[in-house]
Amino acid sequence: MEVEEMDYSSEKKQAGENCVVCGQEKVAGIHLYTSFICTECEKTMIHTETSDPNYKFFVHQLRKVTKPEIYS
Ligand SMILES: [Zn+2]
Repeated sequence: MEVEEMDYSSEKKQAGENCVVCGQEKVAGIHLYTSFICTECEKTMIHTETSDPNYKFFVHQLRKVTKPEIYS
C-alpha cells in the first residue's frame, strides 16, 4: 500500500526532463526549441561572462540545441 501511495504521488509530480547542459533530470526549467534547460543552468548561463571558460562549455552544449541538424 505504501508503495502504491508513493507511486501515486510521484506520478502526480511533474515529470522531469533531461537538461541539455548539465545532463541531469530536472523538473523546473525552460524549453529551447526541442530541448530542455533547467533553471539552474539557465541562471548560471545568465551570470556567466563571455570571458569565463565555462561560457565556452555552455555554448558548446547549446550548439546541440540551436543546431539539431546540420544543413549545408
Ligand atoms: Zn541543467
